[in-house]
Amino acid sequence: MQIQSKLPNVGTTIFTVMSQLAVEYNAINLGQGFPDFMMSEELVSLVNAAMQKGNNQYVHMNGLPILRERLAAKCNKLYGSNIHPESEITITPGGTYAIYTALTTVLQPGDEVIVFEPAYDSYIPNIEINGAKAIAISLQFPSYQIPWDEVKSKVNSKTRMIMINSPHNPTGAVLSENDIAQLRAVVKDTNIIILSDEVYEHLIFDNITHQSILRFPDLLERSFVCFSFGKTYHCTGWKLGYCIAPKELMQEFRKVHQFNCFTCDSPKQFGLAEYLQNENAYNNLGAAIQQKRDYFRSLMKETSFKCIPSHGSYFECYSYQGLSDLNDKDFAIHLTKNFGVATIPVSAFYKNAEDNKVIRFCFAKKEETLNIAAEKLSSFIK
Ligand code: PMP
Ligand code: GLN
Repeated sequence: MQIQSKLPNVGTTIFTVMSQLAVEYNAINLGQGFPDFMMSEELVSLVNAAMQKGNNQYVHMNGLPILRERLAAKCNKLYGSNIHPESEITITPGGTYAIYTALTTVLQPGDEVIVFEPAYDSYIPNIEINGAKAIAISLQFPSYQIPWDEVKSKVNSKTRMIMINSPHNPTGAVLSENDIAQLRAVVKDTNIIILSDEVYEHLIFDNITHQSILRFPDLLERSFVCFSFGKTYHCTGWKLGYCIAPKELMQEFRKVHQFNCFTCDSPKQFGLAEYLQNENAYNNLGAAIQQKRDYFRSLMKETSFKCIPSHGSYFECYSYQGLSDLNDKDFAIHLTKNFGVATIPVSAFYKNAEDNKVIRFCFAKKEETLNIAAEKLSSFIK
């Protein structure tokens, strides 16, 4: 039987490819972004207790009300927003789903969406499956800043959305106040909708303030903002997140959501609602993960790889310029097979596989894991 592919140019995601290779070659997996340390045992107990108490049936299609209330209170306190839990928050099965649903809610065939590359690998396929066109703009290498003049030159009457992601995967770049001012200038007097991927909101380092779109009412009124519990609570396998958007946009989002997912895992929502009362759990996260970044960086100093500093996320990128002539994908495969460390080649985040000889490491790992990886990497000399 034959069908016409909706995504003819798409293969298997690089995260799965590299994780599989890591298993096959028994390599340390610093590729796919997930922690190898235990999540909060308190949160695990809260979810267990919710199941024991019988909270195992469908909750409200938009998410457990008390969870949405506590999320709204958290955001309003952290970002000075005025989010209404009933009409402006929807719990989703992960951040990726929230992003896909927001794009599907808005896009019509022929629309253009500005995305910055390197871009998280789901963005462009999510745009294209909706019949829209991704207008990819490369972040400036190696600072990975947004070239705003180029953005201005690419905006036209077909531009329907702009996607931003801060802290940024894979580079760890973060948006500044100036970036927000530039974004404001670009969207002013247009119908452009912003999709802000903020799954790493708490994983931000060096005393930098997260420039959440939730801080800016004039931008939030035209935005979908996507979050992930998996990243905040080190439980990526739970696949739970949420989307925040103004009422009118959220109404349309929920029409798409209700016939795709309808409602998410209930015991975890009960557990998360309780655990959200513990403000330290998210407020201390940046410092804890920064320690891991700093530790990893100190180990990498002893290797031949050159650091491209990360200011947020689970990731730091390193250049191997001058160390090998292989392209980054082949280099990542070579490192996995022959040196026992799996990474992600950054060209996988570009539509045309732009290769700057950069690979991404996930440092959200136990020190012992990072030690072994660094030891293996230090044996890599041209
Ligand atoms: N956006 C980015 C940039 C990510 O790195 C991730 C991590 N997977 C997601 C969205 C989605 O997270 P989730 O696992 O909650 O779908
Ligand atoms: N977000 C994670 C990463 O960037 C992985 C998610 C996935 O495997 N799709 O590595």
